[in-house]
Parts: sequence; structure tokens; C-alpha cells
Amino acid sequence: MDKTKTLSARDILNRFSHVARKQLGQNFLLDPVINQRIVSNLGDLNGKKILEIGPGPGGLTVELLSHQLEELYLVELDKRWIDAWTQLKTEFDLPITIIEADILQFDLSTINPSIVVSNLPYNVSTAALSRLWHHFHSYEQLLLMFQKEVADRICAQPNSKDYGGISVISQWLSDVKKIQTLEAGSFFPAPKIKSTVVKFTPRKITQTDEMISNMQQMLNSCFSQRRKKVIKALEKLIPNAHERLAQLGYSLDTRAEQISVEDFVKLCLEKQSH
Ligand code: SAM
Repeated sequence: MDKTKTLSARDILNRFSHVARKQLGQNFLLDPVINQRIVSNLGDLNGKKILEIGPGPGGLTVELLSHQLEELYLVELDKRWIDAWTQLKTEFDLPITIIEADILQFDLSTINPSIVVSNLPYNVSTAALSRLWHHFHSYEQLLLMFQKEVADRICAQPNSKDYGGISVISQWLSDVKKIQTLEAGSFFPAPKIKSTVVKFTPRKITQTDEMISNMQQMLNSCFSQRRKKVIKALEKLIPNAHERLAQLGYSLDTRAEQISVEDFVKLCLEKQSH
């Protein structure tokens, strides 16, 4: 019998009895049924190379390992869980590469997964996503769990209060879809917030680091005073801002939240060539 089938996150947590660290955003999802349902959104995983950020006691990890993966990279900051996975790797002969690192520092270009999965620690989730954006072109899919409000912002449409820089860049680089919202009680220990799983399917476009940085700069300026007319910010960023806005079909009273993702990309290209 395949020994990995006997692995369970609850048993792993009991065996190592590591107390959850709040400062590392450790709210664990232990229910195998929920984890199985989340992972099933990735389709056929046989032969895939996957990166999981923050395995902890391994609710998602165990589910991923039930497939015939080529490789599973685990990036984890908590040394206690690094040691635990090092033991489990030997004991169960797991196809995992264990990397002790901070996802905000780790050089993502040193590994080549096609899929990224994570129940992200809340405190670094948006910073981690901004780092991942720079590698989106090399991924087929990402399945990431965020605080519900962050997921709402990622998937927000123009003319809504949640629409902002994180929506524009996420939707420029990928197709985004909310998969499932989980109550706080699904986690141990229970946080004060709900969480939502978002699936990102990157578009086949090659965005350079420079383009992403330019876009971030432009969106920060445009959304920093979201109730004000966007032309004030654009005047400082691109030449002939009035004409460009009019050519795209917007009036001079337009606010940032009224501009579509597609049009922000066009405006950003102007900034680039400026
Ligand atoms: N995957 C597990 C689950 O779903 O139950 C744990 C998820 S828990 C919300 C977040 C995990 O990310 C923890 O294991 C934590 O130690 C790890 N972590 C926190 N900050 C990190 C960072 N900056 N880089 C890498 N891992 C981090």
C-alpha cells in the first residue's frame, strides 16, 4: 500500500504538536474533505511540478501528494515545520524539495513549478502575490487563499468600491475566479475573518518586471485619492493626458475606479514610452 495515503494533517499536527504561531499567520486548514475539494480545482496533477507556500502541518500538502506529482517544492519560514517535513520526507519517501525561506525574499526563478498553491499567511498575502506577479507568465495556474476582503478586491470589477490596483494587475496578468469562501471556524485556531480561495489562470503575455513596476506606480498614483478626478494623477505620469483619456472614451471627470483594466494597460504603455 502507498504509505502517503496514511498521512493526515491532523496526525502530523498531533505528532509534532507545534503550537500555532500567530505572527506567522498560522491558521491551519485540517479538514481533508475541504482540502480535497480545493485541490480538485487544479485538474489533473499527474507529472506536475508544484510550489506550495507555507505547508505547516500539511492539509493541502497531503492532498497534493495523493497525486503522482513530479515534484513538490515546499517553501516554509517556520523551522519547526521544516524539520517535521524533513523527517516525513525520509519516512514516507516523499517527492518533495524542502526550502526554508521567507516567500518575500526567496528567489522564485531558482525553481520551475507550473502550479502554485497556498493557504497564504494573512499578514504577507498581498506582498507575496505582488512577488508572484513577476513570474505569472511561467505558471499555468495558481490557487491561493486570502482573507475574504482581499479576494473581493482581487476579483473586483470597475465602478465598485473594491476595485483598485490589486484588481487591475491581477486581472491584467490572469483570469481570476473566486472558488470558495470558508468560515473562520474551518481553521484551527479560528481567525476572526473569513477566507476565500482564488484561482488565477495566467494569460499568455510576456510582461517585463519594468512593465509591472510601471503599472504599480501608475495605479498607486491613480487610486491614492480615489474620489478625485484621475486626470490630476495622469497629468504627472503621461504626455497629453487629456487627449489620451478622451481618445479612450472617458470624460475629464472620470475617477480611477471607472477605468477598465484594458485601458489602464494602454495608459501604462504610454507611461512606459514616455
Ligand atoms: N498550508 C497550511 C494549512 O493550510 O493548514 C498552513 C497555512 S498557514 C495559513 C500559513 C503557513 O505559511 C504557515 O505554515 C506559516 O509558517 C507559513 N509562513 C508564514 N509566513 C511565511 C513566509 N513569509 N514565507 C513562507 N512561509 C510562511
